[in-house]
Amino acid sequence: MEKILIIGNNVGGTFSAQNIRFLNDDVEIEIYTQESYPYYSRINLPEVISEKKKYDELVVFDDSWYDNKNIKLFLNHEAKKIDPINKVVEFNGSKKFVEYDKLILALGSTPSIPPIKNAQEMKNDKKGVFTLRSIDDALEIQNFIKSNSIKKAIVIGGGLLGLELANQINDYRLDTTVVEFFPRLLPRQLDEECGLMLKDEIESRGIKVVLDATTEEILGNGAVTGIKLKDGRIFEAGIVLIQAGIKPTIDLAKNADIETNRGIIVNEYLETSVKDIYAVGDCIEYNNQIWGIIPACMEQSKIIAASIIGSKKVEYEGTTPKNTLKIVGIDMTSIGIIDPSKEKSGGWEILKKADKEDCCYQKIILKDNKLKGAILLGENKAISYVYNKMEEDVDKAELRKLLELYVYVCNNCGMEYDESETGIPFDELPDDFKCPGCGGPKEQFTKKE
Ligand SMILES: Cc1cc2nc3c(=O)[nH]c(=O)nc-3n(C[C@H](O)[C@H](O)[C@H](O)COP(=O)(O)OP(=O)(O)OC[C@H]3O[C@@H](n4cnc5c(N)ncnc54)[C@H](O)[C@@H]3O)c2cc1C
Repeated sequence: MEKILIIGNNVGGTFSAQNIRFLNDDVEIEIYTQESYPYYSRINLPEVISEKKKYDELVVFDDSWYDNKNIKLFLNHEAKKIDPINKVVEFNGSKKFVEYDKLILALGSTPSIPPIKNAQEMKNDKKGVFTLRSIDDALEIQNFIKSNSIKKAIVIGGGLLGLELANQINDYRLDTTVVEFFPRLLPRQLDEECGLMLKDEIESRGIKVVLDATTEEILGNGAVTGIKLKDGRIFEAGIVLIQAGIKPTIDLAKNADIETNRGIIVNEYLETSVKDIYAVGDCIEYNNQIWGIIPACMEQSKIIAASIIGSKKVEYEGTTPKNTLKIVGIDMTSIGIIDPSKEKSGGWEILKKADKEDCCYQKIILKDNKLKGAILLGENKAISYVYNKMEEDVDKAELRKLLELYVYVCNNCGMEYDESETGIPFDELPDDFKCPGCGGPKEQFTKKE
């Protein structure tokens, strides 16, 4: 019987196993992971720190799932070396050498640590610098906060994970400051205008936000006392949490002479450069891109299953970035292309509505009338429309209605004020607004039906 060996037991590894089993009952499937838990979701890790969730509530598939699917799971097994010639993987665990016919690398990623003086050392020595990736990390952070009675925290990184973590830490009654290198929050998901609106919303929850800030040094001898920025400013804290992007895990592959760059290089069938070795999830690089999101892992796991089973019918074409900020009370979704000014070709059109008072921002990006991307903050009526219509032709009148974008007409000169072009709702215009056509007052305008 053919044996498929999978290293890594999170989204990439687990769903590859499930999809392979769905296609074929006969192959032997073994998953090995260095972690001590069956498949769990990383999404709620910040809530483990704030004690809103117990770590075992994160576990998605328990032992019975593996039994039912006839998939063998080996915890606490770290793969140390791949021998592609003899098709054997060497482990640090109760099983030392495991043979395979086909090997899937689902090694994931680890948090990257920017070049900040003392950061890596203080993290290694557990002196108050942490990153969050696993259940063990979450428990360690929680334990550190409790046992040292930490009152102030700094989160380095104002991306999705940084903000979700800051929100939980803040809810856990720590005085929390987010420090972001870029001049806006969520630099990869939002444009400048929306980033500023989100900043106000985050700050209204009592979280401090420092933008355009390069952290130069972590301060403290025995334990963390704060950080120093490049511009000399110092912020005090008893714990520093770094969530500043991810680094695909590539060393195991690299040492086996599998082609790597930022990630493990794969082709459209998720095959690596070495025969019978495949890769999936956060660890891969395809077409110079890495993803780091669950929808990409899920999509790839279907393609890898087909490739492994020998029916190479579907090719991977990359995954459209889809991101949602998971902070109660803040609805934010960003999907696809959000800044057409960075694209080479023409034909782009933007429908936009920004209501600062209600912290509501809706931006829809079209190219040649096809939906290419969206930013939706504080308003989720358009979400399902956007998800369903991506890459499809849109009916602009329907879209305008959905976004509640209206045209107002000056009853005196016929001049039209189109909310989708200005991005500013008519009601938000100042009372002394004058018609650009005839100079008449705001009251002269009526909504066009
Ligand atoms: C706090 C947090 C919140 C997140 N929230 C979201 C979200 O809301 N939406 C979203 O789309 N994504 C989210 N993500 C990202 C998402 O979790 C990842 O995209 C996903 O986990 C990637 O799955 P993976 O299987 O490729 O890799 P991983 O989840 O990294 O799993 C890889 C596994 O392989 C193991 N491994 C690595 N090397 C070895 C070895 N040599 N031997 C044995 N085992 C090894 C690792 O320990 C790990 O368990 C979040 C991530 C974090 C940390």
